[in-house]
Amino acid sequence: MSATSSWRMIRCPASAPPSVSITPRAPTEHGRPNRGTLVHRAVESWIKDESYREADPGARLVTIADSCVTDSGYPAPRDWQETRSRLRVKARKLADVVSSRTVSQVISENELYDRELKLWGIPDLLLLGDRPILLDLKTEHLGPGSIPESITFQLNIYAHLVLVNHGMFPDRTDVFSLERGLRPAPVTEESVKSALGLVADARARDRDATFPDHEVCRFCDRRFRCEPHWRAAAAWDEPDGLEGEVVDTEASSNGLTAILVRHAEREEWVTKVPSAIFQEEARGRHVRLVRLGHFAPESEDLKARWRWIRTSALQFQDLGLPSLNDATGSCKRAATAQSKRLHGCLGASPQDAAQAPVCRA
Ligand code: SF4
Repeated sequence: MSATSSWRMIRCPASAPPSVSITPRAPTEHGRPNRGTLVHRAVESWIKDESYREADPGARLVTIADSCVTDSGYPAPRDWQETRSRLRVKARKLADVVSSRTVSQVISENELYDRELKLWGIPDLLLLGDRPILLDLKTEHLGPGSIPESITFQLNIYAHLVLVNHGMFPDRTDVFSLERGLRPAPVTEESVKSALGLVADARARDRDATFPDHEVCRFCDRRFRCEPHWRAAAAWDEPDGLEGEVVDTEASSNGLTAILVRHAEREEWVTKVPSAIFQEEARGRHVRLVRLGHFAPESEDLKARWRWIRTSALQFQDLGLPSLNDATGSCKRAATAQSKRLHGCLGASPQDAAQAPVCRA
């Protein structure tokens, strides 16, 4: 089980993958890479070819990042200019840290295992030597306050894996944030012990137990069919999901459709949904939409409260598929685009629809 899945299991046992495989799953390379993926690819390449030793490591990193975009075959993400600027400015500090080691002491994106505890992880960067440094690259928003618990937990698992695989405990653990630069995230032998204890406790719990929480539910594979989540989400301060009957659709010539969803006598529009998703009549069907965005309160488009964003997905619920916690149900993970369409699991674009979030109840 990966460090990330372990964190999910601690927060909500039902959200963790059903197996505890020791082997990392091969990374799935499909669809349009997001900003985080592109930055990770660029930094990995920058480190592997020792570009950090160049006179202007930031400029070189930006060049590599742009190549990653070109190689992806997709246009740059919307906020790519800002990302380039940040890479340029923050690279020097990272280059200074990495340059303090010999080439053989710099280990980038290497799988580490603890076969006894069935744990694995792939730290972004490990710098060996007398005083090992563990570095994790983060491209998501990181506030000025303390490092989020999910990240420190992950670093604790990585520190344990470094000890098991290299026989030494990291002297220093840092987060390299695209937004904030290098930030210390101290890990101690005590904190590692505590993290491993949480994993052991979680494994002993009922694996079907659900603990809905916005942070964990947001990208949970089981979200569409998890009834406890849908009940709890109705009371969230900032909901990002909506369900109900599709009572109307309005397609526009720009390839986008607005859909009107009725739930409990209330009707709400969701706009900017890619029309390609609706290959069949949607009206009258029960739909669930997740990871929707909201229009800014000052928006003049009062018709719509919800809008489809890059990470949004929807699923039609009128196919008699089982729900999570339904004792009779074992909806198989839809493995092909065709079966995903059958299951009504659809993503943001024709490309994404082929690899959209799927139910695995
Ligand atoms: S959607 Fe359900 S299974 Fe997934 S994290 Fe939320 S409560 Fe847990």
